[in-house]
Amino acid sequence: MKNVTVIAHPLVQHNLTRLRDRRTQPQEFRRQLGEIASLMIYEATRSLGVKKVSVRTPLENTSGLQLEREVVLVPVLRAGLGMLDPILELIPHARVGFLGLKREESTLRALFYHKSLPKKLGRCEVILIDPMLATGGSAVAALDFLRKQGAKHIRLVSLVAAPEGIRRVRKSYPALPIFTAAIDRQLNKVGYILPGLGDAGDRLFGT
Ligand code: URA
Repeated sequence: MKNVTVIAHPLVQHNLTRLRDRRTQPQEFRRQLGEIASLMIYEATRSLGVKKVSVRTPLENTSGLQLEREVVLVPVLRAGLGMLDPILELIPHARVGFLGLKREESTLRALFYHKSLPKKLGRCEVILIDPMLATGGSAVAALDFLRKQGAKHIRLVSLVAAPEGIRRVRKSYPALPIFTAAIDRQLNKVGYILPGLGDAGDRLFGT
């Protein structure tokens, strides 16, 4: 699929299998999700723009590369929180916004219950972290809101994606780069990804 990168790295796939396993308890789930997030962000940031800058070493002047734009991480609550800290370890200078979205069970529509974003998003590289790209409703709602707030450079990191969710995002955002560890088979009747890993928020926090 165009602009969709499936991160096939063996360590990512190994960790994903542990996450899928119903026997994996919250403590282990958090650890595995953290490891996978670090590996995924490495790939997801590979194409970030850089600019040449001059730098003075203790010995002489030389040139080096710096990120062209500030990075803003936007985890979708709750499950996105499980990927945030490990990503901040790698990008400690990133600013962080939060979007709280829940699904209205009868319609599967995404409803916001929390929104907080850093200012001047237009100048930033925004990395939206929505671990389960299921119907695509929450991702598209989040993307619409980010665009409304001025974000121009956005990429989406989803641990597991359903074909339906990718199609939904593609319809509204054909060029948006999507990074995922797996494209699963389909959604079930209530919008869960099959085979998936269940409710990522519940598994992460033991609810
Ligand atoms: N959200 C989840 O946590 N899991 C799914 O399978 C779908 C949406």
